[in-house]
Amino acid sequence: MISLTNRSKIVSNKVMTPWEKVYIFAILGGMWITLKHLFKRKATISFPEKTRAIANVWRGQHILKRDEQGRENCTACGLCAVACPAEAITMDAAERKKGEEHLYKEEKYAATFEINMLRCIFCGLCEEACPKEAIFLTDKLVTTDYNREGFIYGKDKLVEKMDNRIDISQRQKKSGI
Ligand code: SF4
Ligand code: SF4
Repeated sequence: MISLTNRSKIVSNKVMTPWEKVYIFAILGGMWITLKHLFKRKATISFPEKTRAIANVWRGQHILKRDEQGRENCTACGLCAVACPAEAITMDAAERKKGEEHLYKEEKYAATFEINMLRCIFCGLCEEACPKEAIFLTDKLVTTDYNREGFIYGKDKLVEKMDNRIDISQRQKKSGI
C-alpha cells in the first residue's frame, strides 16, 4: 500500500544485541530527557488562576445584547438559526404586549432562545447573520459540565445582565490581540 504521508516507519523484528538488552542505558536516556524538561519553560499554565492573552476576535460563549435602554435587541427572526451550520440554535417567537416596550426593542421577541454548546463550533456565522446586532460571541469560555443538559444555554445564561454589560466593541475592530 502506498503511504499518503512520509510518517510511516518500517518496523523490524531484529534480535536485540546484548548491549541493548541491558535496559539500564535506555532507562538512563529516558531519565536524562525528563531531567532536561524539568528546567525548561513550562508549556502549560495553571488555569483558571492564570489566563493567556487572546485575540479580540476570538470566538467564545455567545451573548444576546440589550440596547442602551436595556431592551433585548433580538427580534426572533431566526436568521442566526438558519445560518448556523451545526443547527445549534432554536427559539420561540412571541408578540410584545402593551406595557412590555421597556423589555423588548421590537414588536416580536424571543420568548425562548437556546444554543446547544455541544453542537456549536464557534464559527461566528450567527453573529454575522444577525440584522439586529443582537447576538455576539465573547471571549468567555464555555464552562464544562457533568451532563448534557448543562450545555443547553437558555436566555438566563445568554441575555446580557444589566449590571454586567459586555463590551463587544473590540470585536468590531479588524485585528490585534
Ligand atoms: S457560532 Fe456557529 S455553530 Fe455556534 S451557534 Fe453560531 S452559527 Fe452555530
Ligand atoms: S439573534 Fe439576531 S438573527 Fe438571531 S433571531 Fe435574534 S435578531 Fe434574529
